[in-house]
Amino acid sequence: MVGFHSSAELTSWLTRGQVLFLVIHILGVACFAYIVAKRLVPLVRGQRDLRFDQPLARLGKVLKFWLGQWKHPRYPVAGTLHILIFAGFILLAMRAFTVLIVGVSQNFVMPGLSGRAGPIYNTITDYAATIVFLCMVIAVIRRLVFKPARYAVPARFGKAHTADAIFLLSLIAVLMVADSLFAAAKAAAESQQGRPLEVLAVFSLPWILQSALASTSIPILGRLYFSGYLLHEITFYFLLCYRPFGIQFHVETSLFNVYFAKLNKGTLKPVRWGVSDAHLDQVKSFGVKTFEDFTWKHMLDFYSCADCGRCSNNCPANAAGRPLSPRFITTKARDYAFEHYPMFGHAGNGKPLVGSKESGGIYSEDEIWSCTTCGACEEECPLLVEYIDKIVDLRRGMIDDGNVPQSLQKPLKALESRGNPYGKMEKKRGDWANAKGFQQICRVKTLDKQNGADTLYFADSITSYDDRMQSIGRATAKILDHVGEKFGILGAAERDSGHEVRRFGEETLFMALRDHNVEAIKAAGVKRIVTADPHAYNALKHDYKDVPPVEHVSQLIAREVKSGKIKFNPVENEKNVYTYHDPCYLGRHNQIYDDPRDVLDAIPGLKRVEMTRSRDRSFCCGGGGLMLFYEPKEDERIGVKRVRMAAEAGANVIVTACPFCMVNIEDAIKVAGLEGKMTAIDLAELVDQQIVREPQEVA
Ligand code: SF4
Ligand code: SF4
Repeated sequence: MVGFHSSAELTSWLTRGQVLFLVIHILGVACFAYIVAKRLVPLVRGQRDLRFDQPLARLGKVLKFWLGQWKHPRYPVAGTLHILIFAGFILLAMRAFTVLIVGVSQNFVMPGLSGRAGPIYNTITDYAATIVFLCMVIAVIRRLVFKPARYAVPARFGKAHTADAIFLLSLIAVLMVADSLFAAAKAAAESQQGRPLEVLAVFSLPWILQSALASTSIPILGRLYFSGYLLHEITFYFLLCYRPFGIQFHVETSLFNVYFAKLNKGTLKPVRWGVSDAHLDQVKSFGVKTFEDFTWKHMLDFYSCADCGRCSNNCPANAAGRPLSPRFITTKARDYAFEHYPMFGHAGNGKPLVGSKESGGIYSEDEIWSCTTCGACEEECPLLVEYIDKIVDLRRGMIDDGNVPQSLQKPLKALESRGNPYGKMEKKRGDWANAKGFQQICRVKTLDKQNGADTLYFADSITSYDDRMQSIGRATAKILDHVGEKFGILGAAERDSGHEVRRFGEETLFMALRDHNVEAIKAAGVKRIVTADPHAYNALKHDYKDVPPVEHVSQLIAREVKSGKIKFNPVENEKNVYTYHDPCYLGRHNQIYDDPRDVLDAIPGLKRVEMTRSRDRSFCCGGGGLMLFYEPKEDERIGVKRVRMAAEAGANVIVTACPFCMVNIEDAIKVAGLEGKMTAIDLAELVDQQIVREPQEVA
C-alpha cells in the first residue's frame, strides 16, 4: 500500500512496530501473570473447600448464571446494560486477540475467519464495539448523574469505589474507540486508494469514524492507524493488569466463582471441610477468626464481587438500619486482602477480623450477629457470592472465643440443659397435644417401642412450648388425622432441632441436639417426618443425616388437596384479602413457593394478592429461632416493614407457614398500629379452619 503501512510494517520514532508490539505483549502478559499469582497467594493459604465434585451440575451453573446472565434481568436497566456489555465482550474476544497478534504477524487471520465468515464476524463485532461503547457512556452517566441509591456507601462502611468504577468504564470506552479508530483509518485509506475495501457495518462506531476520516490524507490516516493500534494495545494490557486491583477483577474471576458456587441451598458448610464430626475435637480453632481462616472459595468470592449492591439492596437487616450490609462484608474483606497481600513485600498479618478498628478488625460484632440468614443476598447476587456460610463461620469463631451476646447466653444454656431455649421441662414438651378437650378431637400418640406409627410429626421447640404457637401444632395434628396419616410425636424425647443454634455458630451444641434427635427418631421407627416449622424442616433435610425423608405440612396439604382428601368450605368473610408471606427457610432455601399458594387458591372465595416482595424476593419477617432473643440496634423492625408491605398490597390477612414468622408478624402488626385492621394466620390453622369434615369428625 503506497504511503500507508500496516502496524507491523510501520517504523516509528522508537523502533519497528513489530518489535514494539512484541515487547508490549511480553510485558503485558508477564505483569498480568505476576499480579494474578500474587492474588492467588491468600487462596493458597486459605482453608480447604471441597468444590471439585459434580462437574456437570457446575457446568450447568456456568451456562445459566455466567454465560446466560440469568440473574441480571432482575434489575432491568442495569441488567440489560450488563448483558449487552457481557455479550459484546464475548463477541469481541476473538477480534481483540486477532488485533493483538496482527501487531507481530501482519497477515494473521483467526482460524475459521478466513472465508466468508470473516466479513460476517467483522460486521457483528463492529456493532458489538459500538454497543459496548454506548453502554459505557450510559453506565458512566448513571453513576454520575442518576446515582442509583444502591451504589452509595454509608461512611461507616468505608469509601465509595465510584471513581474506580468510572475510571474502568472509561478505559473500556477508550478501548472500543481505539479498536474502531484502527479499523476506520485502515478502511478510509483503502477506500481512497481504490483497494478492495473492508466494509464496515453501517452506523457502527468504526463506520462513523471512517465517514469522518473520508477526506483525511493518507499519511495522517497512517498515523491514526498506528496510534489507534498502539492505544488499543496499551489500554488492553493496562486494563488486564489494573482490573485485579479493584471491582473489575470479576471479569477474570466470575467464571470460576460461578463454577465453584455452592450447589445445595439450605445447607451449611462444615466447620472444616474434610474433617468429620468425630474428629472435630482435633480442630484447634473453630470458625473464621483471621482472614486465612476463610476458605479459598470464600476468598474468590471477595475477588469476584462487582460491588453492584444488589445483595444489600435486598437485605432486610440493611433495610431496617441494622449495622449489616452484605456488600461491605465482601468489599471490606477484599480491601483487607489487597492491603495485607501486597504486590511487593511481606504478606498476611493474621489479626482478628471481628473487633474494633484500632485492633485491626474490619467487622463489628453487631454486624455479624445482625444477619437473619434469610438468603436474600445470595438469591440476588448475579455472581453467586455466598454470605451465610461466611457469617456463620465468623460467628463460630466468636463463639469459640467465648464471645456470645449477653441476651443469647441464657437461651443457649437452656438449650444445653433442657433441649429448648425457654428452659422449660422436657416432660412438658408434648403437653400441647394434651390440651383440655383436644385429645377427644384428635388423639396424638407419643411414639415409643409399644406405640409405633409411619409418620413422625416433629413439632420443634416453639410449637411445643409457646402458648400461641401450640395452636399451629394442634391444627397440624388435626390435618394429619383428617387425611388418615398414622402419626405420632416424640414428646419428651424430642429436642430442639438445633437449626438456629447451628446458624448462630454453636456447632457443638447443635451436634448434641441433632444426635439426640436422630437417636429418638430411629427408635420411633417411622418412615417419614412431617413438620410445620420450616426451620425444623431445613435442619432435618439438610443438617441431619440418616433420618427418614421430611416434608413440610404445606406440601402434604397441597398433595391431599389434589388427591381430593382435603376439601374446603368457602371463606366466611369474603371481604378479607389474603397475602402469603414466604418463610425464608421454606421458600428461598428450599424452593417451596407453589404448594402453599395452591392450597390458598383451592379455598373457595379466598381473595389473594401478592406482595411486591414475594417468592424468591420475599422479605424476611425479622428472623426466627434465636433472633427472638437477640435484637440488634435498628431504625425500624424488619417485621414492621413486612406488614406495611402487606398493607400496601391491599391485604388484611397475612398467611404464613412458619411459627417464627407468626411471632414476628403478629408482634409487628401491634407495633405498626394495625391491630384490628390486619391479622396473621398460619397456613395449617387456616386449612384446619376451612376443611370440610365428615360428620363424625369434630372441628
Ligand atoms: S442472609 Fe439475609 S440478613 Fe443475612 S446478609 Fe444476607 S440478606 Fe442480609
Ligand atoms: S456480592 Fe454480588 S450482589 Fe453483592 S455487591 Fe457483590 S456482586 Fe453485587
